[in-house]
Amino acid sequence: MVCSGCGRRVHGFAEVYEREVRDLPCFEYRTTVVIELYRVKCPDCGLKAEKVAHLPSKAPFSKRFEDAVGQACEGAAARRVARQFGLAESTVRAIDLRYLERWSATRRRTVLRHMGVDEIHLGKKQKFLTVVSDLETGEPLWFGRERKKETLDEFFDKGLTVGRRRAITAACVDMWKPYRLSIEQWAPNCRIIYDKFHVMQHANAAVDEVRRAEFFRKGGRMRGLVKGKRWLLLTRWVNLVGNKRQELNTLFSMNRRLLKAYLLKESLERLWFYRYEGAMLRYLQSWLDQLRWQRLRPFEKLAKMLLDHLDGILNYCRTKVRMGVVEAVNGNIKALLRRGRGYKNLRYLLLKAQRMVATRTEFVVFTKAA
Ligand SMILES: [Zn+2]
Repeated sequence: MVCSGCGRRVHGFAEVYEREVRDLPCFEYRTTVVIELYRVKCPDCGLKAEKVAHLPSKAPFSKRFEDAVGQACEGAAARRVARQFGLAESTVRAIDLRYLERWSATRRRTVLRHMGVDEIHLGKKQKFLTVVSDLETGEPLWFGRERKKETLDEFFDKGLTVGRRRAITAACVDMWKPYRLSIEQWAPNCRIIYDKFHVMQHANAAVDEVRRAEFFRKGGRMRGLVKGKRWLLLTRWVNLVGNKRQELNTLFSMNRRLLKAYLLKESLERLWFYRYEGAMLRYLQSWLDQLRWQRLRPFEKLAKMLLDHLDGILNYCRTKVRMGVVEAVNGNIKALLRRGRGYKNLRYLLLKAQRMVATRTEFVVFTKAA
């Protein structure tokens, strides 16, 4: 017999007792199995229950049953699974978490070489979540509350050994100082890359700032036109179909500044077509030239930001990393958050997101570097 406390083999047992656990249903009948178990005398732990593979926890469920609930949770919200199995929603979540922990324990950890760091805005109350992902496997590795230097410090400090920190060669991050400082401190061999996804987030924010300014500057009819066009302005032209392009064109014919802002954003994206430093730099210079005389304050701010972070932007040409992974991980987590409320347990959210990558890869969109 095996001791459930320490896992060592034990011979003597003290008593026999019974446990009732819920198992998979038999036809239309709910099934409860009664199991006879030993309480063992462990030299280290004293009196302990014996460890049985089919009984993963103290909860009254068999492993088979928990696996079935966990699998159901992969495709449906906890509320639906709860109804299906006749359990409380909180019980379903607890079973799912154990199921995921068991899965996670059997996995081999890969060496982290290219990391992604991103923040997700959770809302006014909880604010930010810092997400660290492995760009090679495309899965999230760690979550931390807030987005301070200390947040990322904790990942490096507790999550990685010195050797593993040294193995990191590249990090795709936002132009956000606390992250940069933390990486510089902990990962000496890591090159910081300000990737397309993160830079374009700032470009989108600039377009939105122009939109808001126009909304307040102009009165009457213009307000009505600009209102509710946020999504349209932030969508790439190639992704707009049907009358959506027409709608934007109408807006642009009324407002040149919005047109300028939109074109600037669209053309900035072409910066990542280039794989040679010189070419990338030349294109950026021509983009900055277009800004002159436009008097678009948000874009001037963006230009300054790009120049201040130039080295990290050009690092895209120096180190090859998989692009679009940070974006995909970000999208997956947001989808999870939208579907199920109550991810107060970050560990649960992390395991869920990892499992999602492992089982439903079609959800993740990887774009090949051109
Ligand atoms: Zn023991």
